[in-house]
Amino acid sequence: MMNSILMVHEAVGNDPSASYLPDGESEKMTMPSRMLGNTGLKVSVLGFGAAPLGGVYGPFNEKEATDTVHKAIDLGINLFDTSPYYGVRLGEEVLGRALSGGWRQKILLATKCGRIDKAEFNFRAPFIIQSMEDSLRRLQTDYFDIFQAHDIEFESNLDIVFTETYEALQKLKQQGKCRFIGMTGYPLGLLERAIETCQLDVCISYCHCTLLDQSMLSKLVPVAKRRGTGIMNASPLAMGLLTKSPPEWHPAPEEVKQAARKAVEYCASRGGDLSLLALQWVLQQEEVATTFVGMSRMSELENNLRALEAKPDPELLAGVKEILKPVQGKCWPSGHWKAEG
Ligand code: NAD
Repeated sequence: MMNSILMVHEAVGNDPSASYLPDGESEKMTMPSRMLGNTGLKVSVLGFGAAPLGGVYGPFNEKEATDTVHKAIDLGINLFDTSPYYGVRLGEEVLGRALSGGWRQKILLATKCGRIDKAEFNFRAPFIIQSMEDSLRRLQTDYFDIFQAHDIEFESNLDIVFTETYEALQKLKQQGKCRFIGMTGYPLGLLERAIETCQLDVCISYCHCTLLDQSMLSKLVPVAKRRGTGIMNASPLAMGLLTKSPPEWHPAPEEVKQAARKAVEYCASRGGDLSLLALQWVLQQEEVATTFVGMSRMSELENNLRALEAKPDPELLAGVKEILKPVQGKCWPSGHWKAEG
């Protein structure tokens, strides 16, 4: 028996009057949504992370991924995030095909620029401008709701990011190619500097608002609030660490991986599911407008929507917190950013 959020739903895309209720459904339940900074955008608390559509987390089935995208939209997820980096352009192409035929108009679409591959970056203005055109083509649209510089800590000369990249983003916004601009990255200190230096509409911070690390809430949220920047939280499952099958490439220190494994086993031994618990916890954080979860499978979407149905089990949560305590907030190096945090 499917639970209510799966059975009854209402789209919260750009057209608030649009309804995607299946035939015969009379009951209505809206996906919870929150305001994203000063953008005026009301975003679903659960956002669709499309990195798995680039094969970042292993092989996926495009037909199932497409069905998952459509079902997510029908069930009220109105914010989708991708990047040319995910599967080196594959992720955008797959999402573009999935959104063709009118689906794109029902959602807020976010993509990025500057990160091309694992070790390939270009934050210079001509590349950013060209990247916009390439992404528009791959995603089969003529504008993005959000366009961001991707993983800025990988540019060794931050002056480039805060002048050239920023000006290119502003120009694209003025031209109407995107509605809002932002920057993304892992080090919170750098995101804080970006928010203070540039007038950013939005930012993506990832892996810092999870059961393993909550530093985003104390370090970034207050600055973002003061500057009116909307924070989009990503990777609530710590890029797969809080699941049964974390990716081999995960950059976390071994002790963090071990603790996460222990927490997965602890939950399983009590008939629970760490991924569900991790999402239930993050959805309770009122300060977080939206959280991108990566998914390409229908079962993942359904499980993730289930997280909206109940608060985390307090006993299970306490047990997991105890296991993860020794590695709380432990970070890993990313890019050229050497300062604390
Ligand atoms: P995540 O923490 O969301 O974990 C994704 C992994 O968890 C995938 O393997 C997925 O198959 C699996 N998963 C999803 N739901 C599950 C469930 N219910 N049970 C078990 N496993 C489940 O990590 P992510 O995908 O890296 O992050 C989410 C999204 O955030 C990305 O897709 C991307 O759009 C965005 N993101 C952006 C940046 C950036 O801009 N720098 C960085 C990280 C993530």
